[in-house]
Amino acid sequence: MNIQKSYQTEGPCLYLVPTPIGNLEDMTFRAVRILQEVDLILAEDTRKTGVLLKHYAIKTRMMSFHEHSSQAEVEKWADYIHVGHSIALVSDAGMPLINDPGHPLVQALLAISLPVVSLPGANAATTALVASGLPANTFTYYGFFPRNKTEQVQLLNMIGKREETAIFYESPYRLKQSIQQIDRVLGPETNIVIAREISKKFEEYLRGSCQELIDYFEKNALKGECVLLLRPSRLVSHSKTQENSDLSYKDQVLALMDEEEISAKRAIKKVAQAMQVKKQEVYAAYHDLNLDRKD
Ligand code: SAM
Repeated sequence: MNIQKSYQTEGPCLYLVPTPIGNLEDMTFRAVRILQEVDLILAEDTRKTGVLLKHYAIKTRMMSFHEHSSQAEVEKWADYIHVGHSIALVSDAGMPLINDPGHPLVQALLAISLPVVSLPGANAATTALVASGLPANTFTYYGFFPRNKTEQVQLLNMIGKREETAIFYESPYRLKQSIQQIDRVLGPETNIVIAREISKKFEEYLRGSCQELIDYFEKNALKGECVLLLRPSRLVSHSKTQENSDLSYKDQVLALMDEEEISAKRAIKKVAQAMQVKKQEVYAAYHDLNLDRKD
């Protein structure tokens, strides 16, 4: 067990410092002070953070630290703190570690009982959530919306069984397709909110049903950074196909044949429909054919 009393002991530590997600004013006094006082700032992109430091006249030395930084670098910075220095970790925007680099460094420090102090501040997901109008007390943040269709269907089926708001980061260029997929799995009445360009000049919230958003995208294209939030309008009925969606295709077919007493042909068709994949793919998996398949 590790007990950290962040403000009762003097000494070096790692500060996780959130930075603005668009509006440079969204820095706390404390975040600015910590960036001024630490021995070193580790930044995901030193050029981007350089703009912020210049704006606040912060002269602290800065080094690069990103998702491809090696374990050797992680250990080097853990040692640096161990011998008495403090570091502030920042990402390009928002809260470090939230779909941004830093987790291995936090782990390395906690492993040797060095303190990690997180400062409150800007984050796109929670900022969007509280203005979305969707219930904010129960939510799950899933990071970027999956690109793989099978993963999309499995995840949406799971979300459909939970009474909570789901939050995703998503590229504006994939939003339309993602919402169409949400429509197929969770239905046209699903509540959707898109929070775009939060805290920037063109900030906008689009709130509506899946169907309304799809209609909107027929005539409009979006640009900029987006958060996609959804809340199922009703809990998805737990059909056997959905309950089985974590299984391999072959096991899903076998389970359906058994549960619904239907033929393999019919079960293959149902699984393919539910998983939004071609029948041939499920057929090949069921018959152990040597194709590129899921099981
Ligand atoms: N660490 C960041 C945070 O705390 O929100 C998230 C970093 S993640 C790599 C970047 C994604 O966050 C973008 O692709 C977008 O989906 C979302 N995002 C960041 N800034 C945003 C903004 N101003 N408005 C809407 N979404 C934003």
